Amino acid sequence: MTPIPADSSSYANVDAFVATHLVLDLTANFDNRTLAGTVELHLQRRDPAATDLVLDTRDLTILNAEAAIGSGDWMATAFRLDPPTPAFGSALHVTMPPSADRARIAYTSSPGARGLQWLTPAQTAGGMQPFLFTQAQAIQARSFIPLQDLPGVRVTYDATIRTPKELVAVMAAEMTPGPPGSGAYAFKMPQPIPSYLIALAVGDLTFKALSSRTGVWAEPSTMDAAAREFEDTEQMVAATEALYGPYRWGRYDLLVLPPSFPFGGMENPRLTFATPTVIAGDKSLVSLVAHELAHSWSGNLVTNATWPDFWLNEGFTTYLERRIVEAVYGKARADMEAMIGVTDLAQSRATLTLPRDRTLLPDLTGRDPDEAYSSVPYEQGALFLRFLEDKYGRAEFDTFLRKWFDTHAFQSATTDSFLAFLNAELMDKKPGIVTGDQVREWLRSETVPAFAIIPTSDAFTNVEGERDAWLGGGPIPTLESASKSWTAQEWIHFVDTLPRTLTPAQMRALDRQFGLTRSGNSEIAHVWYRLAIATHYEPAYATMEAYMVRIGRRKLVLPLYRDLAATSSGKAMAQRIFAKARDGYHPLTRGSVEEVVK
Ligand SMILES: [Zn+2]
Repeated sequence: MTPIPADSSSYANVDAFVATHLVLDLTANFDNRTLAGTVELHLQRRDPAATDLVLDTRDLTILNAEAAIGSGDWMATAFRLDPPTPAFGSALHVTMPPSADRARIAYTSSPGARGLQWLTPAQTAGGMQPFLFTQAQAIQARSFIPLQDLPGVRVTYDATIRTPKELVAVMAAEMTPGPPGSGAYAFKMPQPIPSYLIALAVGDLTFKALSSRTGVWAEPSTMDAAAREFEDTEQMVAATEALYGPYRWGRYDLLVLPPSFPFGGMENPRLTFATPTVIAGDKSLVSLVAHELAHSWSGNLVTNATWPDFWLNEGFTTYLERRIVEAVYGKARADMEAMIGVTDLAQSRATLTLPRDRTLLPDLTGRDPDEAYSSVPYEQGALFLRFLEDKYGRAEFDTFLRKWFDTHAFQSATTDSFLAFLNAELMDKKPGIVTGDQVREWLRSETVPAFAIIPTSDAFTNVEGERDAWLGGGPIPTLESASKSWTAQEWIHFVDTLPRTLTPAQMRALDRQFGLTRSGNSEIAHVWYRLAIATHYEPAYATMEAYMVRIGRRKLVLPLYRDLAATSSGKAMAQRIFAKARDGYHPLTRGSVEEVVK
């Protein structure tokens, strides 16, 4: 039996019991905003004498607990909840009779469960039906299922989800829907996954196939735009398979959520959850799909063993994302996106107060892993792999990565196990190319190492030339004709690198010519609003406010709150906007913004 790495974010006593399979039977109650029902845990006993099963919970009401031996009858058993801690919730102790290897717990979630968001009809695209979605990463599965909530444990599961008859339930699993309108849906996840990949959504959902194994779930009013935007998904799957081996999860579908979804995407297996803010009309933001798809290899197949190893999920995935974008949309676009990533890394790093959070190896002892969330594991991790690719050559490095995925498939990996693999497969075989000191610097440095291979882009160099010509007094029509062919990435770079000292007249001139305040591209609008705040360009404020109330994606709204809160008049405005937006935000976004505006 493989030992499970110690994990300070979980109470589970995995040296005594390890869950291998779950059976869920849950009802989504929109009236009182609860998920209620039972979870059955099939357990591997690692300590034959153990009598205490410890599970993670947060804000759950436990109704009763039962235990069983093999396929024997259920027997009522004792349980108790420890007092909660803010970071990790409450440990649930279930008394396990000798030889018992199954436990069943009846429970209900709380209306404020951190891993659930219950939306009113008005908060959805269609406006007619309510909506529920889960977001379990990093440690919020425990707020809707009592379980061993740590990425070092993998389970398969079966689930029955009961809903109001007019709604549809989907899970990140194989789906076998009952007859339409039956209000009962059955799911099966045959591949073992960590708890943070358990995912459910319930709403007015329809499905459209994109290819024989890919498709989109969305509210009816969003479907056409979503299906058009994501029509290259099959090409992306094929491109990733060509690089890193077979896609091992059966189907790959996308679920488009309402705009309050706190993340860009969540890589729930077989069913990526995605923000509608990437539907720009021109596929300019679909690298998000490449990213979430890449997690089918890095993250879902080979999983960070503990949350301090998060860069193994996100650094690898960001590197893979750029390779997929390069394969499908060309090198120029991949390079531009990598450069935007480097800028994002510097900006994100600057907001981190703890020095260790600025490295690839944060210290998460006693902390909810979400507290350390930043671009560092994503972009510093991707730059590390880009460096290795450069040093060993692309062909060699691709073989190395493919072998990493093949040999660690459906397992968890630590940073140490990656370093051992890197040593054995590259550094020892090809000595003198990369040093141990360089590897340590990648992991421990609070900055990008001086020897990093920083991406460059001819397109961006050209944008900077046009920018400087305009700043030097060049006429707007010249900029207008030069920028006619610019992609969204070029616009983002242009706006994001304008000096924060632009005059109101310059801001007005740009806005009049290019309509930036009203940009339908959520990323261009985001960098423009940041510039508007820095230059006190008030004509953008009303539209910016509507954006901040409508969208709950943390990456897009939190920096705006941060920028506003940096001045006293801005802080009052941030508080006013937050008061309006608060109820529509997901608990994760709400918590992060609250920290900034309090
Ligand atoms: Zn990711």
